[in-house]
Amino acid sequence: MAPAAGDSDYLRQFAGEAEWYNEVFLSAVVPGDWWRRLPHPLRSWLRNLAGVFFLYLTCGFIWCFVIYYWKRHAFTRTARDSVPTVRAMRKQIVVSLKAMPFFAAFPTVYEYMIESGWTRCFLNISETGWAMYVIYVALYLCFLEISIYWIHRGLHDIQPLYKYLHATHHMYNKEHALSPFAGLAFNPLDGVLQGIPHLFALLLISTHFRTHIALLFIEVVWTTYIHDCIHGKIWQVVYNFGQGARLPGNFTIELDTLYTFPGSRAEGAEPSSLGGA
Ligand SMILES: [Zn+2]
Repeated sequence: MAPAAGDSDYLRQFAGEAEWYNEVFLSAVVPGDWWRRLPHPLRSWLRNLAGVFFLYLTCGFIWCFVIYYWKRHAFTRTARDSVPTVRAMRKQIVVSLKAMPFFAAFPTVYEYMIESGWTRCFLNISETGWAMYVIYVALYLCFLEISIYWIHRGLHDIQPLYKYLHATHHMYNKEHALSPFAGLAFNPLDGVLQGIPHLFALLLISTHFRTHIALLFIEVVWTTYIHDCIHGKIWQVVYNFGQGARLPGNFTIELDTLYTFPGSRAEGAEPSSLGGA
């Protein structure tokens, strides 16, 4: 399934599709056409940067408006609820914006590898058929879930990693301070560690290129929306993430139930150091 590195016509189609994304998105959000003179990888990085910036701020502000203002009384009825202060959210936004150029670099490197034929990416679902496509997507998601869970768990269990890398993120995950803007408030190196499974997934699992791009952007939306303190009984996953009882993987908290044995870390850990991503 992986394209041969010498299959240049096939590989050029990846670059063509990436360039189409660049053209559509950047022409819509970046003033002028100066960006058209940048090399292709830089244009792709700029598109990823603008994309994550736009999604992060849009999702965050919509959440704040609906949950903390418009529907405030519907979602914040109990003592456990909290609405973070503007000061806390401003700090989270600053940390996230500083790390964002690094976060945008990962998918750019992945795209370069895909366009160079170093991964198992394919262009069209017709190349595998729908049944195999669904199986590959399931494998991709399972791989990410397990890998990111264990990396996240290592970031909590290995004290120097927690102290020097991951604590930055959880500094903003305290109850009454957690907001959707904490979703990307990471030390950049922490973001690198949690992003690496995407690279290995592309190397190991046949992946539809467009689906890979879509999943990356869905993750930004998801990461933004799982960071909150509301008593969200409407959605068990969001509720559990927000209350900080168990370590999440990429999308769920189920692996922490599966891999937490009696007497292990999570049994005796301080809830304040858990939860969130
Ligand atoms: Zn964590």
